[in-house]
Amino acid sequence: MIFSQVTQAPADPILGLTEAFEADARSGKVNLGVGIYKDEAGETPVLRSVKQAEARLLEQEKTKNYLGIDGVQAYNQAVLELLFGKGSELIAQNRAQASQAPGGTGALRIASEFVMSNTQSRTIWVSNPTWANHQNVFETAGLQVKEYTYYRAEDHGMDFDAMMADLATAEQGDLVLLHGCCHNPTGIDPTTEQWQQIGELCRDKGLVPLFDFAYQGFGAGIEEDAQGLRIVAAMVPEMLVASSFSKNFGLYNERIGAVTVVAADTETKDKAFSQVKRTIRASYSNPPAHGALIVSTILGDETLRAEWEAELTEMRERIAEMRTLFVDSLAAAGVTQDFSFISTQNGMFSFSGLNKDQVARLKDEFGVYIVGSGRISVAGMTKSNMPVICKAIAAVL
Ligand code: PLP
Repeated sequence: MIFSQVTQAPADPILGLTEAFEADARSGKVNLGVGIYKDEAGETPVLRSVKQAEARLLEQEKTKNYLGIDGVQAYNQAVLELLFGKGSELIAQNRAQASQAPGGTGALRIASEFVMSNTQSRTIWVSNPTWANHQNVFETAGLQVKEYTYYRAEDHGMDFDAMMADLATAEQGDLVLLHGCCHNPTGIDPTTEQWQQIGELCRDKGLVPLFDFAYQGFGAGIEEDAQGLRIVAAMVPEMLVASSFSKNFGLYNERIGAVTVVAADTETKDKAFSQVKRTIRASYSNPPAHGALIVSTILGDETLRAEWEAELTEMRERIAEMRTLFVDSLAAAGVTQDFSFISTQNGMFSFSGLNKDQVARLKDEFGVYIVGSGRISVAGMTKSNMPVICKAIAAVL
């Protein structure tokens, strides 16, 4: 017997919260923990463009034969164009290659294992704070995780100087995890000038950026949100990207993402990519087809693409509206502290500054679930649940 030696794993900080929420019998409960987009009716519907793509696929699909190790080729090409832009020099130089991966998480894991198995690099720097699963994924792959300063609690802003000072102590070959846009959990992204400086630092110190790109289109727009990544990509010889289409296509349970390798030249890229494929073969052999076929069908068809872009704009604008309403409703609920910073944050989340005790009281006394760090999913707010949320926050402040 070996299983009696196994100890209980702690509940996942985000998904564990959903489990607790499901088990909560109170009728007015609100889940603002996990990053899932909800519409004004509080639903997470399948996008119209996705439904249409699926109808086409159902009609046209002729086989369930295995895909290649790196998945659907049209999808991989579409990923490169989303990342670097149509007509990008990097693509023309054949220095970048994408492989389909099971979600952004799968992409992060493949990227880490590829680095562990094929290079001397053993350290990855992540922002403090960062997405709760980053450390878990990287450490499980064997990387050592170090933190760089990112957030300044006093003014709810970015401590860019401290970030640069911390990264200046990194060693050549260390990986640096960067959130492409809509930083999770703070919602604060570097400016164009700051991206430029990050790129310079990575280039000068020989650090390898690993971009986590899970919210393209949720900040300012599809092209705008790729600016940071493109600025850095133009400056460094090598980098990795983990893309996720869970949020911007609403394909959460299809597990669709991509891992992209950028190298100094085609030959190096080809070698690296061959090892990425080897990592995948040893992990899940080859990916499932459905999510990739949906994405490539939509991106490859002018009408469906336009519909998707409109839906993405709709999601982005609804969240922006909720941010403003949230700030106004807090004031209306009698909160005197300044929460105006919430309306300038990007993406699905708001880093509220609420402490652990306040977060616990929100859950226990009011059935309002947010992550222990104080991260609130604004994407889960609606006009109808807003008064409940703001009343609860006013009570615990
Ligand atoms: N990276 C960040 C920053 C995220 O917020 C998420 C999801 O919440 C992911 C990666 C994982 O995305 P996926 O669900 O596609 O694995």
